[in-house]
Amino acid sequence: MVGVVLQETEDIWSKQFADQLGKRYLAPKLVLFEEHIESACGMSSSATGPFYCPGDSKVYMDLDFYEQLKNTFGAPGDFAFAYVVAHEVGHHIQNLLGYTDYVHKQRGRISQTQYNDLSVRLELQADFLAGVWAHHSHKATDLIEREDFIEAIRAASAIGDDKIQKQMQGYVQPESFTHGTSAQRQRWFKLGLESGDLRYGDTFNAQSL
Ligand SMILES: [Zn+2]
Repeated sequence: MVGVVLQETEDIWSKQFADQLGKRYLAPKLVLFEEHIESACGMSSSATGPFYCPGDSKVYMDLDFYEQLKNTFGAPGDFAFAYVVAHEVGHHIQNLLGYTDYVHKQRGRISQTQYNDLSVRLELQADFLAGVWAHHSHKATDLIEREDFIEAIRAASAIGDDKIQKQMQGYVQPESFTHGTSAQRQRWFKLGLESGDLRYGDTFNAQSL
């Protein structure tokens, strides 16, 4: 299933890169793993969940994650999982467009608080890009029903740091947010979903998130 979703992101992003940016899209490679995996980003365990490594342009999917998503956060459904794949592919697009590099280069040059703010903006842009994918996916296949979108947004909020921290610790620590709040993630996903237009995804210059 992950492979099917990834193929669909490849079809859609190839077309959107050509139509909206006049660029060629280079798709990421997919690596499925259980327990531990070594990437250009170092050693990771399944506790990390799915991730994208800019160093080797690969999407790493932890196969336990789908079950975790379903059991822990009550966000079932294949589209919710597809959203997670689309979010990681969003990070790949940011890598292709230079946003990842821009943020990483600021590390050590700015305060930790400022760096965290940039990290949040990078995460929200990945959610926006997942929304743009869903917009065009809907148009391309006509398979995705309205409740699937709601499931995806629920998954987005399930992964929001505030919700995760509430589930794990019973309280939230706003200063340690690196993914944005559930409300912010839903907002940017919806903006991508409703517009399908890459011009609306500049989280770095947005006045409010
Ligand atoms: Zn992310």
